[in-house]
Amino acid sequence: MPQLAQRVGRAKPSAIMVIAEKARQLKAAGRDIISFSIGVPNFLPGDHVYEAAREALKHDSGQYGSNRGAEPLLDAFLRHIEALGFSGYGRMNLSIGIGAKQVLYNLAEAMLDEGDEICFAAPYWTTYHDIADIVGAKANVLHCGPEQNYKLVPAQLEAALQRKPKVFLFNNPSNPTGMVYTREEIAALADVLVKYPDTWIVTDDIYNSMVFDGIGYHNFVFAQPELRERLVFVDSVSKTYGMPGWRVGLIAGPESVAKAVTTLNSNHITSVPEVITAAAVAAFGGPQDVPRAKCEEFAGKRDVVFEALTAIPGVVCPRPQGAFYAFPDISVAFGKSHQGTKISNDVEFCAALLEATGVACVPGSAFGEPRAMRISYTCPTAQLKPGLERIQAFFAQLS
Ligand code: PMP
Repeated sequence: MPQLAQRVGRAKPSAIMVIAEKARQLKAAGRDIISFSIGVPNFLPGDHVYEAAREALKHDSGQYGSNRGAEPLLDAFLRHIEALGFSGYGRMNLSIGIGAKQVLYNLAEAMLDEGDEICFAAPYWTTYHDIADIVGAKANVLHCGPEQNYKLVPAQLEAALQRKPKVFLFNNPSNPTGMVYTREEIAALADVLVKYPDTWIVTDDIYNSMVFDGIGYHNFVFAQPELRERLVFVDSVSKTYGMPGWRVGLIAGPESVAKAVTTLNSNHITSVPEVITAAAVAAFGGPQDVPRAKCEEFAGKRDVVFEALTAIPGVVCPRPQGAFYAFPDISVAFGKSHQGTKISNDVEFCAALLEATGVACVPGSAFGEPRAMRISYTCPTAQLKPGLERIQAFFAQLS
């Protein structure tokens, strides 16, 4: 028998999908399930996006497109990132991909040789570790627990950069914690980054439109413009516009990196389809009232989630300020039992919670923090309080 490549063995099925699948099975069996497990937005883009797609379909050439992305999309993205605070970027600084995920794989291929080091903070989005594993890079995971609000601090970053990693991968706002770095925190980390010129910096900031409490979105290059020559900003239409299935991601960075990604595109995907491109142009370039309204809605839901979680004795939940996740430390439950079922870790906790209450959450170990679990609060508002009440009742029944 021929053997599959070793990298396939290194790729693990997503723990998020495992829980989601179990929830789906229970639902199919007639159980009343409330899913806090999948991190997908629960809204659709504005009508103008569909209108643009329909219009593009009428004139579709059916041809391959640009490996870098069509010019109207690059221009719309340039205006979009200028509104975020980036300045001085042109088309040659950009490239496209089939979602931020594929863009991140391209960046890993462009920047990392086998055995190279990549560092990132934990809790991390699960795919970061998988990308490192698949390209054969060594991941240096920087643990940032609830006691430091799940945020990377300058001394930790400095220690990691002294090892001269090839890549530092950063995520703000964070999936899974919902943490957002303030202007001051970003500036303090940027002060460290400027001292280590041998490391690429990738900021995966696809939740940049979902920042609450007036903190605003900040990037290292806003604080230290000289970082521009080795920093890559990653964005996507998925979360901002409620378009995860449309699969469009983009980068803005040094020309050399944009060129490398474009070359990889020419070998991997060729281009993003014309109709999808037109929809993405409309999303980035059109009215921004959907993302604005959703940001407000999520901030309100955050309040409900935060209040309910912090009311549970022993549960510690750093207050989320962005995206649509909360990441409570539930370790107070470990070593206890729920109606005879012993709970010794996060995986057992989430399994018992789902079985007993029908509420699906994702174990924190999937994100490199086994003391916690992730709650994604994109569910309909009507399900939010009942779901949280079930979690509260579950804790109250632990003995
Ligand atoms: N980065 C983060 C932090 C994410 O949470 C996700 C999606 N869950 C992605 C990247 C991938 O997004 P896309 O849909 O654009 O591939």
